[in-house]
Formats: sequence, structure tokens, C-alpha cells
Amino acid sequence: MSNEESTKSESRNKKENNLLRAVLGRKTTTQTEPLPDSETFIRPDINSKSLVLRHVDVGSCNGCEVELGLCFAPIYDIESYGISLTASPRHSDGLIVTGVVTSNMAAPLMDAYRATPAPKVVIALGDCAINCNGLGDGYGVEGAVGEFLEVDLQIRGCPPEPKSIIAELRRIAKA
Ligand code: SF4
Repeated sequence: MSNEESTKSESRNKKENNLLRAVLGRKTTTQTEPLPDSETFIRPDINSKSLVLRHVDVGSCNGCEVELGLCFAPIYDIESYGISLTASPRHSDGLIVTGVVTSNMAAPLMDAYRATPAPKVVIALGDCAINCNGLGDGYGVEGAVGEFLEVDLQIRGCPPEPKSIIAELRRIAKA
């Protein structure tokens, strides 16, 4: 390799190393989408015939998620009642929370709540979310959802069946 080629190669390696350091050293932060301008934003009434929810798993065994997921299967088709899930709390009418609130998920739960525009509902799905389901003394367990947020609807069961999830959600969606 000539001297010139060697210098070019060294310079390229240096650039790549700097880039790698910049990427690896970058701190990750939670980015919250800004609220829309209140003068131009017209939020539909929460009592419209639809209900869009952000699901937050704060420490579930995943049983409640399986049943919630089944609600969206063709046999139950919860979306035909105007009920759906969204990835962003900014676009939701409220939160549907599963599991006991664990230490690591208490702050994200509150972040999701604060990011949800008012008026908003909080739904505790499953016995863990409602009353810790016997897991209250477990390490890393902070409590039930009601100890952090005012809960508007409780859907009981371990786990609740899709039929009862849909029936309860329809009551507040007024579909
Ligand atoms: S209520 Fe039952 S199914 Fe749901 S997260 Fe708790 S243990 Fe799992």
C-alpha cells in the first residue's frame, strides 16, 4: 500500500471510529410528541362511538395480553365496535393497563398518563392491575394501578375473557 493510500485508510478509520463513539456514547431519552396547538386542535368528544386506547403492560405475566390480543381476532372483532389500540398515548382516549405496577414501570405509566390528552379514561385490565392478585409482596412490586391513578373501569379476571373485555369496553365506548 502506498503512503497516500495508507493515509487515506487511516483517515477513513478515524472517521468511522468517531462515528461509532458518537453512536455508542449517545444517551437515549424518551421523546414525547408535542401537544397540538389548542386553538386549532378539535378533540372528538370521548363519548363518541369509538374508543382508542394505549395499552401499558406494567408487570403482567402476559396472560392478559393474550386475551386482549384475542379481542382483535376475526372471531371477536372488537374493532367492529369502534374500539382500537394505538401506539401513542397522544392519539388515545385513555390507557388500558395490565399487570401489577413494578418499580421499573411506575414512571413510564405516569409518563404515558401525562402524555394522554384530557378527557381520558384509565382501565385496569385483570386482577393484577386491580388488586395485585396476591403478588403485592413480591420484590419489585409497587402496587395496583389504583394506587397510582384514578381507575375509571375495572375488568376482573385472571385473565378476563375476550367476551367480558369487549362487553366492558363497549359500555364506555357507548357503541
Ligand atoms: S391477572 Fe392473571 S393473567 Fe393477568 S397478568 Fe395477572 S396473573 Fe397474568
